[in-house]
Amino acid sequence: MFPDTTIAQVDEILQQAWQAFHTYRKCTLKERAAFMKAIAVELENAGDELVQVAMRETNLPEARLRGERARTIFQLNSYAEACERGDWLEARIDTAIPGKTPPKPDLRKMLVPLGPVVVFGASNFPFAYSTAGGDTACAFAAGCPVIVKAHPAHAQTSELVASAILKAAKTVNMPEGIFTHVHGAVETGKALVTHPLTKAVGFTGSYAGGKQLFDWGNQRAQPIPVFAEMGSVNPVFLLPGKMEAEAESIAKLYAGSITLGVGQFCTNPGLIIGIESAALQQFINTLSEEIKNIPPAKMLHTGIAKAFAEHKSDALKQEGVILAGHSSTEPTDKSIEAAASIATVTGKDFLSNPLLSREVFGPYSIVVRCSDAQEMLQITQQLEGQLTATVMATNEDLSAHEDLLEYIKNICGRFILNSVPTGVEVCLSMQHGGPFPATTDARFTSVGADGIKRFARPVAFQNWEDAHLPAELQNANPLGIWRTVDNELTKNAL
Ligand code: NAP
Repeated sequence: MFPDTTIAQVDEILQQAWQAFHTYRKCTLKERAAFMKAIAVELENAGDELVQVAMRETNLPEARLRGERARTIFQLNSYAEACERGDWLEARIDTAIPGKTPPKPDLRKMLVPLGPVVVFGASNFPFAYSTAGGDTACAFAAGCPVIVKAHPAHAQTSELVASAILKAAKTVNMPEGIFTHVHGAVETGKALVTHPLTKAVGFTGSYAGGKQLFDWGNQRAQPIPVFAEMGSVNPVFLLPGKMEAEAESIAKLYAGSITLGVGQFCTNPGLIIGIESAALQQFINTLSEEIKNIPPAKMLHTGIAKAFAEHKSDALKQEGVILAGHSSTEPTDKSIEAAASIATVTGKDFLSNPLLSREVFGPYSIVVRCSDAQEMLQITQQLEGQLTATVMATNEDLSAHEDLLEYIKNICGRFILNSVPTGVEVCLSMQHGGPFPATTDARFTSVGADGIKRFARPVAFQNWEDAHLPAELQNANPLGIWRTVDNELTKNAL
């Protein structure tokens, strides 16, 4: 529908973004925030047409898309406010001690923007993690121009959002090249990631895609950070006391979480681990009954539906895997619709088959029946990095399984107690990122204003005269930001 951007055009785009960088990075925090808030206004102004086009392209329902647009607007506004507050700059000042031996110099450090950022949007969040989504908002807040490669599954939606960004850029007089929107396949993506003027990449999607971009980023003559959020099975640990007390209600809660958004969330609970007991059997029975009542529904695009069908079928063919529950109605169009399923397997079979811990992106989850707590611990020790992990536990369970909890904490970015992993709050204390392969850098988050730090790097200024320092580090603290001065957090002037 849209022509692919050529390699020659990629070069022009990056040259222009590089020029824009030199102007934009000098914009004040207030000016950057005003730009982001203007984008939020234009997204709202895009009106019903934007929602209608997204509905047509993604098969997502209207209410979900309206909610997601509101979330995207909230993200832009809240990251704009965070940008202005300046906490993310990590301003540190250590004043000189000339009498020290050797004399201690005046040192002042803050984060500065990296340069042009390339963003690959997510198919499952056409607004919140795509063209004007979290990565784009964070890069703008950090002071970086952005080039977005449209997700082909919602190219028209992406065009409309891109127009809103460009309109906002014009309204607040941003430099030409502050934002560019491109279309294309693998070659375009490769040219964007490997261009010498690209300084960072943000990605949300498959392991294969994310790892490829990460490898390209690292193989460059000058490697760059590639922040890729990839697969996760988000393990849920059912501890015995909690199962004894609430097996049925937990099963109902999880039937909703597994099938929410046709299972197309990176935080979907794909792996549930319990210990053999009558209560666990009751959990499996109730969950299976609930799943039977979930009708098949359309997935985002035929590629995702095909991958779901194949990965589910592969999982169900493995030794010891039993299909415990399945939508009682069959899909009418198998090329796009997905039917929800629940499988079970023993801890022993799970431990001997790595394929069973692979993500099946969609409404599917496998319940592992461990013989005892020791086997549950063994499974935890074998699991790869995860975005989230959840424990369903009483206080007594928590006290009795301290070792297990330590191991779980070691593999996840967000550790949840007695709830479901789906639903990611946008706030400063959110962590959306976990050890590889959940993400390529577990030290950072892609949700919450701390995500801004991904696109910035520290610079320390030594012995600079006040007038020549950035405003953020000047003695008077003219921006009124929080700074750590001689090891104390303060807004005071020096
Ligand atoms: P995807 O295949 O990873 O594609 C995402 C973006 O990355 C697209 O723009 C795609 O461009 C690009 N890309 C993918 N592989 C690439 C490669 N080898 N080289 C260069 N660019 C590449 O994700 P998707 O289409 O959204 O869904 C496919 C699967 O991804 C799902 O079945 C699911 O397993 C997973 N997924 C995960 C999440 C998550 O939150 N972690 C979200 C959505 C999907 P092209 O289309 O032009 O190749």
